[in-house]
Amino acid sequence: MTHHWSETLKRAVRDPLELCRLLNINPEQLPGGTSGLQQGHQLFRTLVPHPFINLMQRGNPQDPLLLQVLPLAQENLPQAGFVADPLQEHQSNPLPGLIHKYQSRVLLTSSGACAINCRYCFRRHFPYAENSLSQQATSAILDYLQHHPKVNEVILSGGDPLATPDLRLADKIQQLQQLPQLKRLRIHTRLPVVLPSRITDELLQTLASTHLKVILVLHINHPQEVGTELCEALQRLRRTEITLLNQSVLLRGINDQAEILAQLSETLFEQGVMPYYLHAFDPVAGAAHFAVDDQQARQIYAGLLTLLPGYLVPKLVREYPDQPAKTPLGW
Ligand code: SF4
Repeated sequence: MTHHWSETLKRAVRDPLELCRLLNINPEQLPGGTSGLQQGHQLFRTLVPHPFINLMQRGNPQDPLLLQVLPLAQENLPQAGFVADPLQEHQSNPLPGLIHKYQSRVLLTSSGACAINCRYCFRRHFPYAENSLSQQATSAILDYLQHHPKVNEVILSGGDPLATPDLRLADKIQQLQQLPQLKRLRIHTRLPVVLPSRITDELLQTLASTHLKVILVLHINHPQEVGTELCEALQRLRRTEITLLNQSVLLRGINDQAEILAQLSETLFEQGVMPYYLHAFDPVAGAAHFAVDDQQARQIYAGLLTLLPGYLVPKLVREYPDQPAKTPLGW
């Protein structure tokens, strides 16, 4: 029996020991053991829905999907240069729920919720409570955008914008599309990857019915994340003729090999998704153990270029707080 996505989300695993039990992993074999898991969980809560767990390999504590979500003792280690707001987003946050950093596009933190908690997330310390997209906040943002006619693209991000129920999301899009200068709506989401049933008929209807060009940017880091259910969801999304892109984060111990990234691009393309960005790791506090330094990132990227045709190579970029665009990592 297939549950509604919100039901599946309610049943998500919220206890790291339960996650280990389901995967037949002895927590004492992990760095920091059981107490390390519990301490990590106190700092950044475990949240993993079952469809994502089903993609993990049983009995493998090094599984690349598991490592993205399992709290380890390293979460507690302070590291110089790793900070709560690595992109200084508070400097580009003129209104609650709005980040305006680049000239032609703005980002709305349309939901503070996610369906999964990723240990490496650069917004893991983001003050979502102060940035909730209430009706009042939305009205203020619409007013702001009316005074910023150069903004022709709105990015719904978060958190995860697809954590918002269909009706509320449709309402937000309806309001946004009244802005005369707006051409495109971009949705940054990891939700279909971890909870493919999120691609409901209602959502498809909403995305198909707006006059805005819709770009759905998925967040997939490893080819193992592309399971059968996601492929079916992508097939349904493709019928709406929206543009499907993917962004990944370069993560130590997860996807820091050219061959893995090449396999990811090949798999995405087979499913009608174009590789878009490969983000150099943002130095967020609590996640230093995922960092790949820039020199190594360039070496991996050079290898990737030899394995793929140019159109399947995502752009390797780093985001700097004070730059007017993302910066390609030269090599
Ligand atoms: S915002 Fe994206 S990367 Fe961050 S925890 Fe949520 S799903 Fe993961």
